[in-house]
Amino acid sequence: MYKIELSSDEVPKKWYNINADLPAEIPSPKNSKGKKQVESLPKIFSKGVLEQEFSTERYISIPKEVRDLFMRMGRPSPLFRAKSLEEKLNTPAKIYYKREDSSPTGSHKLNSAIPQAYYAKKDGIERLTTETGAGQWGTALSLACSQVDMDCTVYMVKVSFDQKPFRKTIMGIYGGKVFASPSKHTEYGRKVSAENPDHPGSLGIAISEAIEDALVNDEVYYSIGSALNHVMLHQTIIGQEVKKQLEIAEEEPDVMIGCVGGGSNFAGFTFPFIKDKLDGNSDCEFIGVEPSSCPTLTQGTYDFDFGDSSGLTPLIKMFSLGHDFIAPSVHAGGLRYHGMSPQVSLLKDQGYIEAKTASQDEIFKAGTLFAKAEGVVPAPESSHAIKVAIDEAKKCKETGEEKTIVFNLSGHGLLDLVGYDKYLSGSLPVDSK
Ligand SMILES: *Cc1c(COP(=O)(O)O)cnc(C)c1O
Repeated sequence: MYKIELSSDEVPKKWYNINADLPAEIPSPKNSKGKKQVESLPKIFSKGVLEQEFSTERYISIPKEVRDLFMRMGRPSPLFRAKSLEEKLNTPAKIYYKREDSSPTGSHKLNSAIPQAYYAKKDGIERLTTETGAGQWGTALSLACSQVDMDCTVYMVKVSFDQKPFRKTIMGIYGGKVFASPSKHTEYGRKVSAENPDHPGSLGIAISEAIEDALVNDEVYYSIGSALNHVMLHQTIIGQEVKKQLEIAEEEPDVMIGCVGGGSNFAGFTFPFIKDKLDGNSDCEFIGVEPSSCPTLTQGTYDFDFGDSSGLTPLIKMFSLGHDFIAPSVHAGGLRYHGMSPQVSLLKDQGYIEAKTASQDEIFKAGTLFAKAEGVVPAPESSHAIKVAIDEAKKCKETGEEKTIVFNLSGHGLLDLVGYDKYLSGSLPVDSK
């Protein structure tokens, strides 16, 4: 069986909340003295997501309207066996991948955009603001807002805005309004641009701008694409579906791999399986892969830091490269975040998750090999997971082990062709390792 599908009515009915099972408690967010901060989170987040953010209930029901929208947008997504890739690698390992690229917006991001838009609408809100790196999150939120009839403003990291011009078009089709960040629309954006007119932008800066926009306007909430607990929660529909699909295939995973930016696709894909490990019922390995140019989990410090650049968010305990870190302008724009989900950070710190890095050259090589074998052109972000899945499969070739390797294909790369073009023509800048 190469394609394992579930029917519409098998969309999960509940989200899995790993807060109920973590091996230690996540330290509460702190406010730092002398900083202008978001004193009142309720002013920018919906009641629905705030409740989820701090909940310790193990399973949280998915509202029927949200589940219905998931079905209309094509969920559940299929799980594929990468038989052609296995043959190309001549490995005894079995490789499976979850097709989050099959969502209409091309990535897993719609899984959290839909509930976030739904809960904001329920509170009577008229517009959502947000940040976007590569543009996947802004695209998903623009579509989700149009589904619930709300406006959407997107601050897009400038370097990606320039690298991926058609992202703006897609967001525009769905009704999203897009500004390159740093922008002229916020006080913070104007300040950053005045200091450096050629600033490439960063997710941290775009988050600051989006929060500021929500803070100064009533009837406007801010929505975040990753890192926070409620986003990890929403994404757990991925892993719950994979569980059922692997049961159908009569497989148990030995290694599960995902790329990590803020941690949401990795968390959503692995948390339902990490639960088994926490319960002592599994020895699956979990590997998060990040760019060597933005090595948050492998080289960051596990301590309190701000989630944005200007220090508007509370201090959060997480792996971080420092809130003023500006990652080099690599093509995997979705992985250029200085911080990491507090839940993923804690699990890494406690040894439940392993982290690896991959260089830009390596990921385009892996992405191209995968595309030739399987047909799908992967997002550069997802290619980080592919790179390590290929490494694991090659190891199996040496040892003769028949491991079951499962990775999350978080998105397609059909709007990342500038990066692929540079790779194919040999003009991709070499990043340091
Ligand atoms: C946003 C994005 C990522 C990184 O974000 P996470 O929150 O770490 O999942 C990875 N892959 C794709 C395709 C994305 O759009």
